[in-house]
Amino acid sequence: ASTAVEAPRLPILQLVGVRKMFGGFAAVEGIDLDVREGEFLTIVGPSGSGKTTLLRMLAGMDTPSEGNITLRGELINDVPPNKRPTCLVFQSLALFPHKSVGENIAFALKVKGADAATRKKRALELMRIVRLPDNYHDKNVMKCSGGERQRVALARAFAYDPEVLFFDEPLSALDYKLKKALEKELKDLHRETGKTFIYITHSLEEAMVMSDRIGVMRAGRLVQVGTPEEIYGAPVDRFVSEFVGEVNTLKMKRVGQQWQGVDVPGTFTLGSPQNGAVLDEAFVVIRPEYMRFLAAGERADNQLKGTVYNEYSLGSRIQYQVRVGSKDAGEKVMLVELSRARALPPGASREVTIGWDAADAFTLGS
Ligand code: ATP
Repeated sequence: ASTAVEAPRLPILQLVGVRKMFGGFAAVEGIDLDVREGEFLTIVGPSGSGKTTLLRMLAGMDTPSEGNITLRGELINDVPPNKRPTCLVFQSLALFPHKSVGENIAFALKVKGADAATRKKRALELMRIVRLPDNYHDKNVMKCSGGERQRVALARAFAYDPEVLFFDEPLSALDYKLKKALEKELKDLHRETGKTFIYITHSLEEAMVMSDRIGVMRAGRLVQVGTPEEIYGAPVDRFVSEFVGEVNTLKMKRVGQQWQGVDVPGTFTLGSPQNGAVLDEAFVVIRPEYMRFLAAGERADNQLKGTVYNEYSLGSRIQYQVRVGSKDAGEKVMLVELSRARALPPGASREVTIGWDAADAFTLGS
């Protein structure tokens, strides 16, 4: 819940023209990014897109080949990890196996020379923040479950009192249910502590649940940065639209004032392209949940006749695979997703007309 007038947030980290070369290969390039103080920013992208390389530069484990990284306006390209007010939480936790939960958490304080009573007091405070019971203080960390160890690692990171916390796929090894629970807890923790979180994952679902903003990487570049709603609702290109979920994509070409299908025959009505570009060729991207079956006499901006040849239950929703077009003129499989309440009755014809409105689709140039 935000107040009516929110103070503008200053960038805590700023990246300008950041590039990282390995031999002749640019693992990361052209990165311009402002990370706002206190935000939860997630970097997503497929394997090999450069997420880890970017994070290593932010955390000081690597230096950029080109460009600048500044923290509160100060250049930190060459500042080593232990000289930055940042902390990295790993996928493999790197806890001290023979030490207790309390000792693991208070490690940073011991290094700073805090006495035993101070260390215990702070360890207990941090344990409460990450929701570990007090009586875990003396428990051997190896006797904790995976999820509990994750909390210990988090509490240990907080003990350094970092301004920025980096997370490198910290939940990827956990089972689904625990992962879902910890996602929500991490989000709460972020809100309660007010720290800046930078998180990398290849799971967009994870990113959607937790983040204030998401940056999508592809082949070393940040192709889009935006709120989860922006990434989902206004993807800049087909790569982002397809990364975000299942989509129907149709190629179109402009013929005079009309758009004609390239993959499937027909004339179509398109919404304006995302960035106002003037296009002669375009891709229309429609999410399956924005497609519908049209009853006789019902209309939509765009419609195609087809045959349902597969249907899958997704729990509360049903997904249909519908073959449209024809063998001669071009065929395409389209996905239509409906709530169970609106599903085709078992006996209904599988010869269908599917439709969508222009306003519910994206028109993309690439
Ligand atoms: P994943 O999700 O699989 O961890 P990623 O998005 O984190 O992938 P990076 O690990 O940053 O990707 O790798 C980006 C590219 O840079 C890859 O092609 C990788 O092979 C290459 N790369 C990374 N580190 C090095 C290195 N030290 N030397 C050479 N190439 C590297």
